[in-house]
Amino acid sequence: MAKNKKSPGVRDQAEKLALKPRFVGDAMSPADRRAAETLARDCLDFLTRSKTERAVVRSVRQRLTAGGFADLDRETRAKAGGFLVHHQKLLGLWRPGQAGPETGFNLIVAHGDSPRLDLKPKCVYEESGPGLGLLRTNLYGGLKKHQWLARPLALWGFCALKDGRTVDIVFGEDPRDPVLTVPDLLPHLDRKVQREKKMGEAIVAEKMNLVAAALPLGEPEDKDRLKLAVLKILHDRWGLTEEDLISSELELVPAGPAREVGLDGALIGGYGQDDRLSVFAALSAVLASPRPRRPTLAVIYDREEIGSYGATGAGSRFIEDLAARAFEASGLEPRWAKVRAALRHSQGLSADVEAAMDPDYKEVHEEYNSARLGRGPCLVRYTGGAGKYGASEASAEYVAKVRAAFDQGGVLWQSALLGKQEEGGGGTVALHLAAYGLNIIDCGPPVLSMHSPFEISSKADLWMTVRAYKAFLEMD
Ligand code: MN
Ligand code: MN
Repeated sequence: MAKNKKSPGVRDQAEKLALKPRFVGDAMSPADRRAAETLARDCLDFLTRSKTERAVVRSVRQRLTAGGFADLDRETRAKAGGFLVHHQKLLGLWRPGQAGPETGFNLIVAHGDSPRLDLKPKCVYEESGPGLGLLRTNLYGGLKKHQWLARPLALWGFCALKDGRTVDIVFGEDPRDPVLTVPDLLPHLDRKVQREKKMGEAIVAEKMNLVAAALPLGEPEDKDRLKLAVLKILHDRWGLTEEDLISSELELVPAGPAREVGLDGALIGGYGQDDRLSVFAALSAVLASPRPRRPTLAVIYDREEIGSYGATGAGSRFIEDLAARAFEASGLEPRWAKVRAALRHSQGLSADVEAAMDPDYKEVHEEYNSARLGRGPCLVRYTGGAGKYGASEASAEYVAKVRAAFDQGGVLWQSALLGKQEEGGGGTVALHLAAYGLNIIDCGPPVLSMHSPFEISSKADLWMTVRAYKAFLEMD
């Protein structure tokens, strides 16, 4: 009996011809492992501090300023590169290359928004029977409603007052703070209203209200004592009135820090990794590529989770302004046709997370083309639903070019698609950039439990993703 099942000839052929899926961990040196740990700790901190689109922009801006980037709204000439912030929720950066901007940029885009609960404009009310002051919520993005019940939630808010003042709120993150929560029905009584229904219908969005107060204000004969109790706290703590809430953006996110996961601590667990994990990786890659051959543009969009509509979404024209500012900062006249040509000749990478194969639901994935945790960032040639509807697809030539750049940068990567053709589907911002005629491909780390309050990624994948994005930014 031969020791190996394959004969040496076949082994040679397999070595030469077949794809060899590899764990990133198998290719890491002890120094690589230490670097991956340091990066992961920094990422945990970034995720913990950056739980809203505004907070993401704030964190990124701080890191860019520390890295020598100038605010292009204040300084038009910026040697080391600069950034533009739009409406405090959208951030674009430019870094000069050895070549000028006329021949195009290497463009990396990600999104800073994540699924969550928002408060409605008129949100404070009471249920005097149950004896509670409550807050009405509005869903934001594709979340599975049951995952947001009966768990500690923190309130991250931004309020704009009539006199021009603004108020920032973070409530429920400090372990000494109380938290908010949406209660769920006990299993003893849920048979008709929840358990016998389809999962998607069992939880009704309008019943996802937050418990905000239980101590009534005033005397037993007074009216609206619990609603007033909530309003009084909002006023005492942050100076707000009920009308001020109408000009506020109040977001409920899972309370508490991002954590290491697994007995071996090899995974990163935390809210908002779609797509702040890619934001963090892209930023780390930009900061580690100080002098690329082609100039860099990077954009962190908002509103991806609800279709990229609006002034801060990828459907806006922000990229044109950013490219024009890059021309100006390089000392060039930003003529419309030249800026458009530069965008058309740009090379794009849409940095967004990919669904990792779920060990308990393998049936929704197509096993040959699904992403695995620990095998590196995913190159996703196309997204969309069945029949490639709504898909942005990278051309063969472009995929080949990115593969070559990854090889050169020592990147271990995997080819992946979202799931089986008829299970559902999803898209990214890639198509909005492809509208300029540029080449773009989706590439990001695999994530388990995507869109849940506790998403899971791999430290090794994060480390390799930064390497992949760096190889892309340095691509000719
Ligand atoms: Mn995403
Ligand atoms: Mn998403």
